[in-house]
Amino acid sequence: MSKLYDFTSLSALLQCEQEWTYRYQQHLARPTADVSPHFGTAVHVGVRALFDGQPQEAVADAVSASWGDFVAPDKKAHLNLSYAQQVVEMYGEVYGLGGAQQVATVGPGLGGATHLPASPASPFELVLNEHYLEAPERSLCGIVDRVVRSKQDGALYVMDLKTTGLYLGQAWFEQWRHSLQAAIYLDLVELKLAQPVAGFWVDAVHLDRRGYPKREDFMRVGPFPYSQEQRKELRALVDDLVFRARELSGELTTHISRFTPKKNPRSCFRFNALCPFFQFCTLDPQDRADAVRMGLASGDFLETPWEPSKRK
Ligand code: SF4
Repeated sequence: MSKLYDFTSLSALLQCEQEWTYRYQQHLARPTADVSPHFGTAVHVGVRALFDGQPQEAVADAVSASWGDFVAPDKKAHLNLSYAQQVVEMYGEVYGLGGAQQVATVGPGLGGATHLPASPASPFELVLNEHYLEAPERSLCGIVDRVVRSKQDGALYVMDLKTTGLYLGQAWFEQWRHSLQAAIYLDLVELKLAQPVAGFWVDAVHLDRRGYPKREDFMRVGPFPYSQEQRKELRALVDDLVFRARELSGELTTHISRFTPKKNPRSCFRFNALCPFFQFCTLDPQDRADAVRMGLASGDFLETPWEPSKRK
């Protein structure tokens, strides 16, 4: 069976083919996880447990187990286990999950999308909770956070949880109106459920250096509708990326195959940090394989295959 590619891998490919090759072909990773994704994973685990209806103690245990003995670096010391636990606990309070008392919040509308107020009765029914989905005929896979059915219009929606240190302003929300990830998830869910999906909701949690959550940090905004024409356009982009991933991984041989991954030097510095593979890319090409071997031997890098189905 052909290998399956998820949004994380395809997004890396779009960013820099060389980085994708280091990460997803050579499976190189730093031995210590980055704190932001580690924090996000712990919150995802806790929220999944809330949607599963687990009691508060079990939810807290799930967050702790996900966190393990990880210690955040000094410059992001606020992203610690206690903050993750508080975020999950308040998520339960705000949205009435995990036996917590629900608290109503109201926010402004955004460009035709709605900031969903929590209400005594949830406006959604849960259909799928953090579910791994595949579309082998397109070599695609992904874990969808939630699929919900609106009690108001009866339609299905994908709802994706995002933890972010960025300001939750209009531009941040608007990005989900035109998202490759949303397009992939809408297709995967429609295939799985054999029903149309009407759009995408973003379930956002703002994080900041204060290190404890406030109710206004929790905002659900949507629905972002995707027309069939928009989805066709984004689907073509996804399929092109999958084709290129298969080409680079040697799965395909075509008469115009370009097996050498392209570098994208514009991506070398992002989020105030260098790409983890910068030390290789700044060497002459003939010296890179030895440098990678040394990086592995010294423990600077580990070989960690990316397995989307076991991501969380
Ligand atoms: S250092 Fe730059 S060119 Fe090299 S893999 Fe990273 S992003 Fe790509």
